Amino acid sequence: MPELPEVETIRRDLQECILGVDIAKVVVRLPRLVRGNKNNFIKNLQHSNIVKIDRIGKLLMFFLDNEKVLLVHLKMTGQLIYQKNKNTIAGGHSYGSDTNIYPNKYTYIIITFIDDSELYFNDMRTFGYMELIDKNNLEKVTSRYGIEPLRDNFTLDNFKKVLHNRKTTIKAVLLNQQLIAGIGNIYADEICFAAGVLPDRSVTTLTKDEINLLFQESKKILKKAIKYRGTTFSDYVDSKGRSGAFSKHLQVFGRQGLSCYKCKKGKIQKTKVAGRGTHFCNICQK
Ligand SMILES: [Zn+2]
Repeated sequence: MPELPEVETIRRDLQECILGVDIAKVVVRLPRLVRGNKNNFIKNLQHSNIVKIDRIGKLLMFFLDNEKVLLVHLKMTGQLIYQKNKNTIAGGHSYGSDTNIYPNKYTYIIITFIDDSELYFNDMRTFGYMELIDKNNLEKVTSRYGIEPLRDNFTLDNFKKVLHNRKTTIKAVLLNQQLIAGIGNIYADEICFAAGVLPDRSVTTLTKDEINLLFQESKKILKKAIKYRGTTFSDYVDSKGRSGAFSKHLQVFGRQGLSCYKCKKGKIQKTKVAGRGTHFCNICQK
C-alpha cells in the first residue's frame, strides 16, 4: 500500500506537470471508484484546471480553479500514472509487458488534458477512490487526520500527547491515521526497528528515551524514504510508472528469515501485530 513517502513522491512529480493545464475530458470506466455523483464529478472536472496539489497522510488533494477539490486515495493498489503523450509506453519496471502500456485493463479513470497528456487512475484491487468535494468541506475531511511526521504539528509534545494513556501497542498507534497520519505497515515496522522497540510493546511501558527515539525515527525514516522516491513492495509505482528505490534500504520489512543487518546475529522474525504482518529483530528490539 502506498504510504506517505510514495504519495508525496507522486504529489511532487505531478505538481511539475499538470498545474494550470485545462482538463479536456474525463472518462470513468468503473463508476464505483468515484464517490458521490458520477455525472457531477465529470462535469465539474472537465474544463477546470488544477492550481495546487496538497496531501494529508495518504490522501491527495487536487485544488481546482472552480473552488472544488479532487480527493484521491490509492488505498491498497491504486496508481496515478501521468503520460505526456498518450499511446506511448511509460518507463515502468515492476510490471509485465502487458500492463506497463497505459491505459491498461486496470485503468478505471482517465483524465485527458488539453495538451493531450493523460492521467490514469489504475487500481487492480479497486479499493481506491476519487471524490470531488467543495473547498468549504475540506476541513471536515482533513480534521479526521492526526499529526503528520512532515508537518509542523509533529512535535515531541504532540507525539507524547498522542501516546498518553493509550492502552494498545505502539504499532497500532503508528498505524492509526486519526492519531498519526501517513504511516502504514512498511514504515511502522521500519520505525520500530530503528528505535529499538518491539512493535507489540504496550505504549504504557515505553520509556522517555524510547518515545523520543520513535519520534525522531518517524521523521527520519519518512524523509529518507521520500529521498529514495518511496518503496515498491508489490504494486506501487510513481507517476511515471517507476519503482521506488527505498526497497533496498528496508531493514526488516519483507526480510523475515534473513539475517539482521544491524546485529548480524538475529534473524528477522515475522508475526502479527495490530492485525498486520509485522517484522522485527528480537535482539535489536526490546
Ligand atoms: Zn538485530
